[in-house]
Amino acid sequence: MSLSLDATRLLVLQNADVLAPARIGLRDIVVSGERIVALLPAGSKLSGLEVEKIDVAGQLVCPGFVDNHVHTLGGGGGLGFSSRAPEIQASQLARAGITTIIGMLGFDATSKSMAALVSKTKGLREDGLSAYCLTGATLEHPVPTLTGQIRTDIAFVDEIIGVGELSISELGYGYDSFGKGAQYVAEAAVAGLLAGRLSRKAGYCCLQVPPYLEQVLKPMFDVVDRTGIPITQFIPSHVNQTDGYMEDAITWGLKGGWVDIGANYSPGNNYGRATLPHKAYTRLRQAGVPAGRILLSSDGNGAPPKEEKGENKPKVANYMPMRALYAAWRRLITEEDIDVSDALAAVTSNVARATGLTRKGELAPGMDADLLVLNKDFELVHVIARGQAFVANGQLVRRGMFEETLINELS
Ligand SMILES: [Zn+2]
Repeated sequence: MSLSLDATRLLVLQNADVLAPARIGLRDIVVSGERIVALLPAGSKLSGLEVEKIDVAGQLVCPGFVDNHVHTLGGGGGLGFSSRAPEIQASQLARAGITTIIGMLGFDATSKSMAALVSKTKGLREDGLSAYCLTGATLEHPVPTLTGQIRTDIAFVDEIIGVGELSISELGYGYDSFGKGAQYVAEAAVAGLLAGRLSRKAGYCCLQVPPYLEQVLKPMFDVVDRTGIPITQFIPSHVNQTDGYMEDAITWGLKGGWVDIGANYSPGNNYGRATLPHKAYTRLRQAGVPAGRILLSSDGNGAPPKEEKGENKPKVANYMPMRALYAAWRRLITEEDIDVSDALAAVTSNVARATGLTRKGELAPGMDADLLVLNKDFELVHVIARGQAFVANGQLVRRGMFEETLINELS
């Protein structure tokens, strides 16, 4: 087969063993600018062009990871001002195989704002990655917004694609989770849904579910039953935080809802009641939750207080590293024997579907050229975001604007 295109520069990944995330065999992946333009049978001839070729024979190529839960500006703040985590840097994401993020404010909407979040999101785009964000914050009803309303934020601000992360009743602060709290969550979700329809976005609602109370997702079953809001408009976060939450997440998944596993939630990271993320995946599947409904995200760059029992006040903020996402994903394959395509779907195509990112999460003509090249041990060799290499042969080759300076300042 041969192909002739009018373009100034093409990048071709030759002899790629493509996981799109479905396994589709050996292909030459043709990239023009920021998009994939063709997946040709391996060995196809390209003519009339300036072509940069990378031979990836013997290696796997899959979509870049889409991390649906990132504290872009830095989370934390629950243990004093010094516990406010710093802003994310582009290479923190790229070197972890993450080429797209969906960011959110989180706990601290007092010292951090939607204006800063949208600005940082635009900045990551300028750095060469793909970035989106949600409007709102965890604990505030009504949530803070950029334009004054959830609806106008989602409808008119390109970067904003949904609302959250919104607590059902974190720590029980002042909310009646089955009454006023549930009512507010339903109103926020409807605002997102309507604005999403207007602007061709998902307009979904990311939920923070309190780990301290028995009720976990139960107020949300009520909301879905009583309002008719499609269950897929909600993404419950880090469902592996406690056993009770896992039980409700299984029911949620069996009803057709998305369930999002938190890669940073594990006993080793001060979450004593959490199920390890790869074990949580297996447990959901064994309970009958379809692979197509399971997501995996980092909650990265967040810094929640360490969980403590009883009267003990937390003293440590748990920084959530971005690389936990890749590490948890790899353990799905190496330790749980999960099918590679299913494992990939949890960090690529499922996430894109849940969040309405139509050019993300799959390798096909017309999709964004976000590509990971992995060796047979599933280690990252190349990371390409929007057609440009961030990692080449295992080395970081591109950084955000101030990263070099920061490294020098800190060393
Ligand atoms: Zn979070």
